[in-house]
Amino acid sequence: MAGQNSKDVMEKLVSLCKRRGFIFQSSEIYGGINACYDYGPLGVELKKRIRDFWWREMVQLREEIVGIDAGIIMHPQVWVASGHVDSFTDPLVDCKGCKNRFRADELEGDRCPNCGGELTGARQFNLMFSTHMGPVEDQASLIYLRPETAQGIYVNFLNVMNSARLKIPCGIAQVGKAFRNEITPGNFTFRTREFEQMEMQYFVKPGSDDEWFEYWKGKRLEWYHRLGLKSEKLRLHPHKEDELAHYAKAAVDIQYEFPFGWKELEGIHNRTDFDMARHIKHSGKDLSYFDEKVKEKYVPYIVETSAGLDRTLLTCLVDAYAEEEERVVLRLSPRIAPVQVGIFPLVKRDGMPEVARRIETLLRPHFHVFYDEAGSVGRRYRRQDEAGTPYCLTVDSQTLQDDTVTIRHRDSMEQERLKIEGLPDRIRVLIDR
Ligand code: ATP
Repeated sequence: MAGQNSKDVMEKLVSLCKRRGFIFQSSEIYGGINACYDYGPLGVELKKRIRDFWWREMVQLREEIVGIDAGIIMHPQVWVASGHVDSFTDPLVDCKGCKNRFRADELEGDRCPNCGGELTGARQFNLMFSTHMGPVEDQASLIYLRPETAQGIYVNFLNVMNSARLKIPCGIAQVGKAFRNEITPGNFTFRTREFEQMEMQYFVKPGSDDEWFEYWKGKRLEWYHRLGLKSEKLRLHPHKEDELAHYAKAAVDIQYEFPFGWKELEGIHNRTDFDMARHIKHSGKDLSYFDEKVKEKYVPYIVETSAGLDRTLLTCLVDAYAEEEERVVLRLSPRIAPVQVGIFPLVKRDGMPEVARRIETLLRPHFHVFYDEAGSVGRRYRRQDEAGTPYCLTVDSQTLQDDTVTIRHRDSMEQERLKIEGLPDRIRVLIDR
């Protein structure tokens, strides 16, 4: 998919996101603000489900990985130590004609892609947002909004190791907002200036880092498969020497084939002891670790898995979007679908709404359900197809006789009849399979 077609798909998705309440333009009643978005009722549920799925696999199911939630604002020296003040830059060029700005490394020729005008020479532009803390706006109060969540983990290394009594190899995970003053945001929520990261920093003995790097490459790719993304649209892209970030010895991206090309979803980096060594130097604190097993003291190496939550959500939507003859359907995995079960009375009479409400009460504590009695049942199915709801239950006249309902499967549109009392178990099995 390229050119017009790819634009079409993205445009349709943007419009579906607004219509159905996944994603809205930020501050829309004021004309919006470039590349800033808000999540609506369905979007916030989808986001939560993806975040929870990540947390489950990266923290809950692993005894050697724990979570933290560090602040967005940190001591400004953190960003000096991490190298972000000096090196977290992209090369910026301006068009002398239309005044648009571009990332020099993303341009194909040496003319403005917008108007063909002449471009200025490239200058390094720091991507960190800065602001001031306290009432005095001087250099001393200059602070930054974190451009990555990782540093909050490194500076808490000792606190976490001591309080959670972890032994290397072990990891610290965090999900939270990060901010980057991107020169060219775009492609809907693919690149924004405010976004959420899901990061895990894995601390290992130097010398075992290459092995752990390989391990996490495999594990993380598997996670995207389990998230339900199409296998043929996922690939690993190793970084060449000249692509490596300032902190990395080796890096690989997990990429997805979007309508606008193969793009990064997650970066897996061997950060060596770069960050820890820098924090030792700048803070004057000893962040080394005494390894009881080998009776050796060392500064741990770090293998990082760094994913974007908003970008993963967009990927799930792009991957799930399908147009069929008589419907638009989001084939989201039942694990992450914002609504898991739609519940409908066939008609608004004969006691059917009462039975449907009874089913709603039975299921609501266990699943994300949505009750709907408006319009024809066919239209109600279509509405749920578009929202990605995998299962819909309908109460009909037979229900009143034998306590069974139909369950309609979103993807196959097939229906089966089930006893009401067996619904929680059956739906659980369907979602977890
Ligand atoms: P790029 O080179 O595309 O700017 P990056 O290599 O700097 O990205 P990382 O620093 O590795 O990205 O960030 C890890 C993850 O965070 C990315 O894989 C992506 O999912 C997410 N991410 C980074 N920047 C943004 C952004 N501006 N908007 C949305 N998600 C982002």
